[in-house]
Amino acid sequence: MSKAVEVELAQLKTSINYLVGLLEEGSLVERFDKSTREEIAFVLQLLLSKVKDLPSNIPEHLVQATAVRAIIGASEKFTKVEQADEEEHIARNMREIEAAASIQGHDLGEWEEVAGSAIEYQATCRQCGGFVYVNQVSAYNLLTDDCVRVQM
Ligand SMILES: [Zn+2]
Repeated sequence: MSKAVEVELAQLKTSINYLVGLLEEGSLVERFDKSTREEIAFVLQLLLSKVKDLPSNIPEHLVQATAVRAIIGASEKFTKVEQADEEEHIARNMREIEAAASIQGHDLGEWEEVAGSAIEYQATCRQCGGFVYVNQVSAYNLLTDDCVRVQM
C-alpha cells in the first residue's frame, strides 16, 4: 500500500525545514560561508512556501517550474541586498568627502550622477569649480587645499 500524498508532503516539509535549520546554524556544512548557507536556506524556504500553495493534481513539469521560480526569486533578493550595500558605501563616501571639502572651505553643490553610470557621482564646488568624485569603492578629492573663488 502506498503512502498517502498528504503524508509524503508533510514529510517533505519536515525534511526541508530540518535542512533549512541545519544550514542556518552551520553544523551540517560548516565549510560554506555564512552568506552561502543563508542563500541556500532562503531558496529552500521559498520553495517550501511555493510548493505548499500548489494544487494537488499539478503536473510534474509545473512543480519543477515552481522550483526554478523559487531559485530565481531568492537570487533577486540577494542582488537587492548587494545593491543596498553598494548604495550604503557610496553614501558613506559622499559624507566623508563632504566633510573634508567643508574643512577646506569649499562649498559643494548637489551630487550628480556621472553620465552613463548609476554608481558614480560627482559634485562641484560652487566657488572654485573644483570637484570631487565617488563610486562604491573610493572617494576622490580633486579640490585644492584652500578654496579660492574663481571669476567665471
Ligand atoms: Zn572650492
